Amino acid sequence: MPSSEPQKSKPAAYVEVVLPVPLRRAFTYRVPQAMQGAIKTGARLTLPFGRRNLTGYAVELHEELPAAIEIDESKLKDVIEVLDEEPLITPEILKLTQWTADYYASFWGEMLKASLPAGLNNDKVKPKRRKAVRLVDRGAEALDSSDQKTQPLTRDHQKIVDLLKANKGEMLFTDVLEQADVGASPLNTLAKRGIVEIFVDDVMRDPLAKATLPDKDDFELTAEQQTALDAITTAVADSDQFKAFLLHGVTGSGKTEVYIRAMRFALDQGRSAMMLVPEIALTPVFSRRLRAVFGSEVAILHSNLSAGERFDEWRRIRRGDARIAIGTRSAVFAPLENIGLLIVDEEHDPSYRQHESPFYNARDVAVMRASLAGAIVVLGSATPAMESFYNAQSGKYTYLTLPDRIGGRGLATAELIDMREVFKLAGKDVAIAPQLIAAIRETHSRGEQTIILLNRRGFSQFVLCRTCGETIKCKNCDITLTFHRGNNQLVCHYCNYREPSPKVCPKCESEFLYFVGEGTENIADQLTKKFPDLRIARVDRDTMAHKGELDKILLEFAAGKLDMLVGTQMISKGHDFPNVTLVGVLGIDIGLGLPDMRSAERTFQLLTQVAGRSGRGKKAGKVLIQTYYPEHYALRHAKEQDYDAFYREEIRFRERMAYPPFYVLASVMIKHRDHTEAFKNANILRRSLDAANPLKHARILGPAPASIARLKNEFRVQIILKATTRRGLRETLAIAISEAEENGCDMRAVFVEIDPVNLM
Ligand code: ADP
Ligand code: ZN
Ligand code: ZN
Repeated sequence: MPSSEPQKSKPAAYVEVVLPVPLRRAFTYRVPQAMQGAIKTGARLTLPFGRRNLTGYAVELHEELPAAIEIDESKLKDVIEVLDEEPLITPEILKLTQWTADYYASFWGEMLKASLPAGLNNDKVKPKRRKAVRLVDRGAEALDSSDQKTQPLTRDHQKIVDLLKANKGEMLFTDVLEQADVGASPLNTLAKRGIVEIFVDDVMRDPLAKATLPDKDDFELTAEQQTALDAITTAVADSDQFKAFLLHGVTGSGKTEVYIRAMRFALDQGRSAMMLVPEIALTPVFSRRLRAVFGSEVAILHSNLSAGERFDEWRRIRRGDARIAIGTRSAVFAPLENIGLLIVDEEHDPSYRQHESPFYNARDVAVMRASLAGAIVVLGSATPAMESFYNAQSGKYTYLTLPDRIGGRGLATAELIDMREVFKLAGKDVAIAPQLIAAIRETHSRGEQTIILLNRRGFSQFVLCRTCGETIKCKNCDITLTFHRGNNQLVCHYCNYREPSPKVCPKCESEFLYFVGEGTENIADQLTKKFPDLRIARVDRDTMAHKGELDKILLEFAAGKLDMLVGTQMISKGHDFPNVTLVGVLGIDIGLGLPDMRSAERTFQLLTQVAGRSGRGKKAGKVLIQTYYPEHYALRHAKEQDYDAFYREEIRFRERMAYPPFYVLASVMIKHRDHTEAFKNANILRRSLDAANPLKHARILGPAPASIARLKNEFRVQIILKATTRRGLRETLAIAISEAEENGCDMRAVFVEIDPVNLM
């Protein structure tokens, strides 16, 4: 455990560090005489490692080499450089990352690296420094000072002094030149005479510097909101007592308002607060609303910021200038001190899961952080994850509910369009059903807006040869290529491999190529042709390649400058557009067909979320869902918007299949460019797992090819573990991994994931 502050008489001569590499152990380095006393735990250090230099993190300091460390003193290497005088990492974050790394059978150093703003380790981001001018105390009296008589101030000098006085005595150098309309020389003269001081200052890059902020809402909470808020604030006031809430409220029921007031309460109690949101839900509208409420006390961390802006927002938290942090996944590690409240909005959202090493789920880390810090955590959702609702039922979480939409507005009515009937009537495949076309027309005639959701970008999902039956696949992956008409290319959505779209089948040279499965590009195209007078924008990763583009379109849509958005799940959540009264959902069957244990849950969640986009204003909303499987329980319950009924059916499935929340899962993925090597390593691991599991506490499945058997030129072989306890699972894994390593398994090829999502 890291000691907090090394306030010892004798300076530390040795430091224990962890490195951002897939190694579980810490390393000991010698602290050269000149650096002794300058290193604190949590500081970043430059260290020699093998033949390279790496940035590592000081986690413990020693005056003398601890007896437990069996190392030959002469083999120890020296720290090269201390990167932070004041440690970037707080003791709380050191502990949290250590805990998280352990929980996810991951690596502490990698977890620490993930907890810091991107770019810090390679010095890509630096504080932005600008020249500034400050009025020296004496400057205020400069007018009647003695040297005024011998050396009178010129008009320019006077203008500068007056301007600085009007600006609290401090301004950016360039601002002074501009606003006083003077050159640099009078400023330099004043500096020489000691009336002003010219210095270099940190400037904070503010992502919302130029934004217009909305008015603050000031309404009375509904009785349900008040009950929920009271429960949360009572718990926050009951300091240092961990407690978890599940706030289950339909979309538009006023959850956000409860979050905002609860955070305000935590601040008033002298605590800090954080709110996590899914990757794509931190909309420009929402950021502005938060800034309007909390001013500079809120720091906003999300992936659309430039590295510099992100770093500055993070530093405002670290310095204690911002006591509220709002952000996506990695914001859960924000260095807030004295945290009292953590909120996870849309807690079921898969984007909380980091999909590369170090794997973690920010929702679960938030719960851990709250429990380590004695804080309150609130998980909010209209469609809680099965695991969370189960925890609420078992009493582990306290259940709070907001069953109604604000203002007595009903939920949007949802209808399923049976595409089998549509096909029969039309005698051919139809991408957009006539019912939906009619509804779009009606909606537009009332001056209202439409959202069309299709979770597939590109023009056609894949290309099929009608002569030989070949589908065109990625050369690096076991995946069909998607046709993008905009640049006439076939694109792999997994590795981004591209090739020109072929005119003939690459295998048999037949000209009869068949483009199957419409994507957003195609649907937006068809709709633009059908409705030439509608202003339609497409929102997907292809159109949103530029920073700021999404913000721009969403703001335009909110302002009524667009009539329709066609897009992927990017537009499915979080947004509040009161004039949207129709949501059309295409291609929902794609998600249902995925070989994923959560496909039904995800489909239900997605439909509930999009339904929540419709009818948020005073007008009633409508949702039309096209499907070939109207009987599927996820669709039936989504249509009725009946979460409880869905939960009851899904939880039985989970129990029958030995899935979470009844079992804890781990996925061990072995990746290798060579197929035989992949299986060889996997087989060693399997044998070690069996040896580590003599009492069969864990069920072990595999090795078997993963559902995407080849990705980015690597073969993927998977072993799945199911266990009844987390501890049992971790212990089995830990023993098996060290044993497999001894037996020649190449651990660089092995990726362990606890609580994997998208498990296939
Ligand atoms: P949710 O987060 O549950 O989807 P929001 O908090 O965004 O819901 O609230 C939905 C809408 O209702 C927002 O426009 C919000 O400003 C408004 N609202 C929330 N609470 C109240 C209230 N007590 N009285 C009036 N309007 C409210
Ligand atoms: Zn062919
Ligand atoms: Zn590929």
